[in-house]
Amino acid sequence: MINFHILTIFKNIFSEYFFEGIIGKAQDKGLINIYTYDLRDYAEDKHKTVDDYIFGGGSMLFKPEPLFNAVENIQKNKILNNNKKCIILLTPQGQQLNHNLAKEIASFKDIIMICGRYEGVDERVRENLVTHEVSIGDYVLTGGELPSMVLIDVVSRLIPGVVGSQDSVSEDSFARGLIEHPQYTRPSMFRNWKVPEVLLSGNHKEILKWRRQESLRKTFYRRPDLLDSVKLSEEDLLFINKLKLKEE
Ligand code: SAM
Repeated sequence: MINFHILTIFKNIFSEYFFEGIIGKAQDKGLINIYTYDLRDYAEDKHKTVDDYIFGGGSMLFKPEPLFNAVENIQKNKILNNNKKCIILLTPQGQQLNHNLAKEIASFKDIIMICGRYEGVDERVRENLVTHEVSIGDYVLTGGELPSMVLIDVVSRLIPGVVGSQDSVSEDSFARGLIEHPQYTRPSMFRNWKVPEVLLSGNHKEILKWRRQESLRKTFYRRPDLLDSVKLSEEDLLFINKLKLKEE
């Protein structure tokens, strides 16, 4: 079970998404818990100020006090095992989220996420409070709420029992280092387009071979960079050579 703790100034953003579908069911089954905290509740003045002007010029930035107060409060009241801390700042400057980073984050029992707004957060938060900085891509969003939802979704899918068939998770793109093979459903003939014969054959061994080869083919053409870090069999290498020679 993983507890996700989200620090935000826009708590309402989360309600709809997390009540639906697989993530909603995962909470019902007690596999994950999602807690949201309004950062303003941890501000130190009567106006509940969480942001201020940037020294040296610029617009607004989250002040350090509410963030430190909120994280320390969650750690004191909600987190029993404080040994392995995971305090994530969502930021475009962070490590780009991928399958391996999601797996690493999924090893924590409590995950605190800081959703920035405005120009982000005071640098002292980055230096002295957070343990991980995560980006969801090389572009800048208006806030960290969507990135935190992406992160929760990705990490939750890795928890056994969250997705009905764990096999489908382990066959997904990136789980084995490759892009997933093409998939089809009924009808076997749609307009003039037929599902590959082998998939209708019932021959499980041939189907597995086809899936592996088509997965290699997609990866070869779309994400050749992935092939450098995946374990390939003799048979895989032969197939890739054929792709290189355009024989397949
Ligand atoms: N001034 C910041 C910079 O250049 O790095 C960008 C601030 S952005 C407008 C406001 C907040 O949105 C950030 O603090 C972060 O929490 C979130 N954010 C924006 N883009 C993101 C991304 N690609 N990945 C993760 N978080 C992002």
